[in-house]
Amino acid sequence: MFDEIPVEVGLVHEGERIRRKDMHLEMGGPDVKEKFELVQVRSPEEVQDGAIRVLGPDLGEMKEGGSYPLGILIEISGTKLEENLEGVVERRIHEYSNYIQGLMHLNQRYDIWIRLSKKSFKKGFTSLQLLGKVLIELFKSELPIIERMQVTFLTDAEAIKKPYAMALSTYEARDARARGLTDEEVDSFYGCALCQSFAPTHVCVITPQRYANCGAISWFDGKAAASIDPEGPIFTIAKGSCLDPVKGEYAGVNENACKKSLGEVERIWLYSAFGYPHTSCGCFEGIAFYIPEVEGFGIVHRGFQGLTVNGLPFSTMADSTAGGRQVDGFHGISLEYMRSPKFLIADGGYESIVWLPADIKDKLKPYIPSQIFGSIATEQDAADLDGLRSFLLSREHPVVTRWSEATVNSDAGTLPVLSGGDLPLVTHGVRIILKNARIYADRVIIEPLKKEKQV
Ligand code: SF4
Repeated sequence: MFDEIPVEVGLVHEGERIRRKDMHLEMGGPDVKEKFELVQVRSPEEVQDGAIRVLGPDLGEMKEGGSYPLGILIEISGTKLEENLEGVVERRIHEYSNYIQGLMHLNQRYDIWIRLSKKSFKKGFTSLQLLGKVLIELFKSELPIIERMQVTFLTDAEAIKKPYAMALSTYEARDARARGLTDEEVDSFYGCALCQSFAPTHVCVITPQRYANCGAISWFDGKAAASIDPEGPIFTIAKGSCLDPVKGEYAGVNENACKKSLGEVERIWLYSAFGYPHTSCGCFEGIAFYIPEVEGFGIVHRGFQGLTVNGLPFSTMADSTAGGRQVDGFHGISLEYMRSPKFLIADGGYESIVWLPADIKDKLKPYIPSQIFGSIATEQDAADLDGLRSFLLSREHPVVTRWSEATVNSDAGTLPVLSGGDLPLVTHGVRIILKNARIYADRVIIEPLKKEKQV
């Protein structure tokens, strides 16, 4: 099947990582703004079956060690193909590209990142035509409803601009289709195990109000995928009884998660980052990270360059979040989930969000309750935790009321009971040392207690 391809192609290569020192070049990724992959359903006469075009420099013409723009436009036709299958077909680009030895494909949509290894380049993988051939072969053999397919690669920095803008508006239109439906209104959710090659215990639970972590598969996409390929990686989850409507716990979800994770994940709370949170593979668009110092969440997305307010970059937090585990307070999410009324609702929803990159805050403005919008800091308001604390206080963010605090009672010469989160400290008639305390007009704000508890 792949006689013309100079490297191996097969499932065995999925999950292969290519480190910078082993890479010949990369396309997309954090150093490149314009990158995308998009599948579009067309009429048969618009698709020249098997055609592969490269608009811009090909792999052999690119400099070793360089980063290049990349657009992958796949146009398909077939009598049973509908527009609502585009997202699901598109997500398979990730899977099939990763079958190629020495080629690593990460992320999705406007976030793609491809690396080619030095070894595979030396073996002759020197043209995107080869990637196109593999994709056409795999798509047409695995999804026979695709009758005709053509692939266009865009690598020219100018030529990619217009299609890139078109791709962004297509993603937005797709996401908008799924808004408005609630989790209570449907009988079934959908599960996706596509990322198990990287995170073996991970299953995405896709509901109308909890979009897939990668931000590429909506509930409608899941429904369409499960109907055309019921044995495939996207499957139906009968909701079963609702065990907790606030946390979002369903008997059918627990049962499926347990089965698909081989017993590793027994329960899932869909709308919480604590307790039994949804697992995170590695494809999440963003991370909700708990900041104990202020008892709220920061959010960072993959495209954010630099350090977040807790001093860590996205990449470091991604390592703590990924792998298909349930990690309290490090939670992989999609940006579309942030538009949902169920977004982290069990943890306080937007009333618990304290920090967001400015571009995301701006993008999500219509979905953030107006009374909280001005109280959420961005990198322009707070660069570190001291700055964040001051900002939240000055804006009277709701989390401030959760902070451990005590009114100083100078007459009694004592401090009343301190409370808040995991910081119990009782003082009745005894002297207390409050390290790093900050005294404001009517309250004492206490830094999280480490070893300094001393009575
Ligand atoms: S992130 Fe989730 S929905 Fe997206 S491909 Fe991976 S498993 Fe599927």
